[in-house]
Parts: sequence; C-alpha cells; structure tokens
Amino acid sequence: MKAKSYYKKLGKILIPSAKLQRKIREIAKQIEKDYRNDEVVFICNLKGSFRFLSDLVSYVRIPLNIDFISFTSYHGTDPGKIRIIKDLKTDIRNKNVIVVEDIADTGVTIDFIMKYLKDFKYPRDIRICALLDKVSKRKIDVTIHYRGFVIPDKFIVGYGLDYREYFRELNDIRIYNG
Ligand code: 5GP
Ligand code: MG
Repeated sequence: MKAKSYYKKLGKILIPSAKLQRKIREIAKQIEKDYRNDEVVFICNLKGSFRFLSDLVSYVRIPLNIDFISFTSYHGTDPGKIRIIKDLKTDIRNKNVIVVEDIADTGVTIDFIMKYLKDFKYPRDIRICALLDKVSKRKIDVTIHYRGFVIPDKFIVGYGLDYREYFRELNDIRIYNG
C-alpha cells in the first residue's frame, strides 16, 4: 500500500499523545497508591493494549510482573465465540492482577477475561484498567476500576488500536473514517 492512500481515511485526532501520557501517568500513580504494600501482575490483552501496558508500567514504581494473554477477536456479541490463542505463562494463583485493556465497548471481552481468570487461574484479586471506554455501547455491566477516557461511539485507531492490523503505530488516538 502507498503511504498516501494509507493515511487518507484517517480522521481527526480524538486524544493527542501528550494528553494520553498525562492520563496514563495519573492512572499509574493511583495504582501505585492502591498497591503500596503489595505486588501486582499486569496482564496485557493483546494486541490492542501493548502500547498502553508499556507506558503504564513505565510510570509505576512498585514490584510488578507482566504477562500477555490473547483471545480470538469475535464479531457480534456471542461470548461463546471467544477462544484463547495465547495463555499466561505466569502463575497468578493468589496474586493481585490488573488486566490492561485498550478499550471497553460492549463489555463482552472484559467479562470473558474476568470469568476465565477467576475460573481457571485463581488470582487473589482482579481489577480492570481500560484506557478508553465507549460507555454508550455497553451490553454487559462490567466494573472498570481504572479508566482513562470516556469516548463517543466512533471507530478509533492508533496507540495500539488497529483497523485491519494497521495504524497501531500512531501515537495519537484518531477517528477512522472507514
Ligand atoms: P467489547 O468486547 O467490549 O465489545 O470490545 C472490546 C474490543 O473491541 C477491544 O478490545 C477492541 O479490540 C475492539 N474495539 C472496540 N471498539 C473499537 C474501536 O473503536 N477501534 C478499534 N480499533 N477496536 C475497537
Ligand atoms: Mg482488543
């Protein structure tokens, strides 16, 4: 693909990089406070959350572990269609876990991950940290303990989020006019 057509459908910047970083630092400091005397395992749900995870932990100053998990993406809202592609390597039994998510939309993914980890991995505690939240799209009521920004119901790309695997490299969050 030529660079010119690659960038053609990108819409306006919804959240610029500096604003993202400021918010991520705030979330990191809150996590630091909440887990002052404890350790945390950060679980990054691939691929959309890889940049958020990376920046988030760079601001957190407590003992921590990092691991990655990956599920098949699904179309529609049938959680029965979600399958695991890459499981954790870390044993999180009796550990405090924070699941790092790029975006909460219907809530199906977060609900699925919570149940999966609780039922099969026996952590002491699980919290959800989502950078973006399309609250108006929610179908399943999930608790988000740490949240970056509430955003409107627009398709967005950048900062890890893709359109057909493209645009994850962008530093800002942008509207995509597909
Ligand atoms: P949910 O299960 O909450 O409906 O959807 C969460 C997943 O849908 C996210 O992890 C993300 O992969 C995808 N998603 C939802 N909205 C957007 C969006 O606006 N842009 C992109 N790139 N992915 C989205
Ligand atoms: Mg995702």
